[in-house]
Amino acid sequence: MSFSNIAMCDLKGQYDKISADVNAAIQDVLNTSSFIKGREVTLFQDELAQYLGAKHVIACANGTDALQIALMALDLKPGDEVITPDFTFIATVEVVALLGLTPVLVDVDPDTYNLDTAALEKAITPRTRAIIPVHLFGQCANMEQIMAIASKYNIFVVEDNAQAIGADYTFSNGSTQKAGTIGHIGCTSFFPSKNLGCYGDGGALFTNDDALAEEIRSISNHGMKVRYHHDRIGVNSRLDTIQAAVLRIKLRNLDLYCDSRRSAADLYDKLLGASSKLQIPVRSSFSSHVFHQYTLRLLNGNRDEVIKKLAEVGIPAMVYYPIPLHKQKAFDVYQKEAKNKTFPNSAMLSQQVFSLPMHTELTPELVTFIAESVLKSVE
Ligand SMILES: *Cc1c(COP(=O)(O)O)cnc(C)c1O
Repeated sequence: MSFSNIAMCDLKGQYDKISADVNAAIQDVLNTSSFIKGREVTLFQDELAQYLGAKHVIACANGTDALQIALMALDLKPGDEVITPDFTFIATVEVVALLGLTPVLVDVDPDTYNLDTAALEKAITPRTRAIIPVHLFGQCANMEQIMAIASKYNIFVVEDNAQAIGADYTFSNGSTQKAGTIGHIGCTSFFPSKNLGCYGDGGALFTNDDALAEEIRSISNHGMKVRYHHDRIGVNSRLDTIQAAVLRIKLRNLDLYCDSRRSAADLYDKLLGASSKLQIPVRSSFSSHVFHQYTLRLLNGNRDEVIKKLAEVGIPAMVYYPIPLHKQKAFDVYQKEAKNKTFPNSAMLSQQVFSLPMHTELTPELVTFIAESVLKSVE
């Protein structure tokens, strides 16, 4: 069997199934021409808050802005330390540095790729003011432990939930909460390829705290509560009405989309799990997995060679992320201050991980073709 145009993320196939609704919703916005702060934005915020069980959802222009606005709302001072995992997308730590705060990188768990909570507690100093756990590739970091550590040291928690919207976290008492609603603030991205993606850029913050919500609303709107009265320095960060209209339709399908991704992952697991060359994704006991990425490890073998062999049969594969943050040139300055820190797990992962096509339109036939090709290419 052969397939043409295999995509890491098939946005066109997904759009084709909802195109009638999406086209009508965009046409509606065009008819009202309320492009900024239109009705759809408020409706979407309310619907997402309902879905997440969060008190407040505040939409903004992208996920990076969401993280920046969250840190601004916490009123941190230059030099305050913010802990992030060493193995994540640059945005998580970029905003920390941009605000004059000091990023403190912490190693990750080799199985789940998420923040190692023992390393986290060791990294806390009297200057630590916030932790940004990232729910990498679609499953939650160990939020119960992270919240316990945060409350012990009186530290804020901002969840970077750009990759795990829709995932459920289960606490040891059996109660569950949606990813992104457990910390003081949760942030997400609606970048097109994210699990809840729009057709351009978008993002949002979630919180259950009324005072933080008011700060976040004000900061994202030039630091004003009353028009043209600027109480503090803010930014301009908004979600377009057209994007909100698209997101309202996609939100209705989000659980279905999560299920499609999970079914594809289950089949990948089944077909690849027995290979001694590969480590399939390890699922945490405390979080459901929404598979933003299906990321596995090549335990022995040449990763570049495997990716090349897959490309030869038309299968794309990507490395998220090839360079851990502590090795990024932009962060040299912070590493010099923390010279003797090592990150064995993120260093190992950046050498071993690769991600296979993962999206809502994968068929069992396509997953089987990809998995069989992977097995051949790791021989
Ligand atoms: C995508 C992503 C972001 C940033 O989102 P943008 O909307 O692209 O700014 C932040 N953190 C993580 C982990 C991401 O995957």
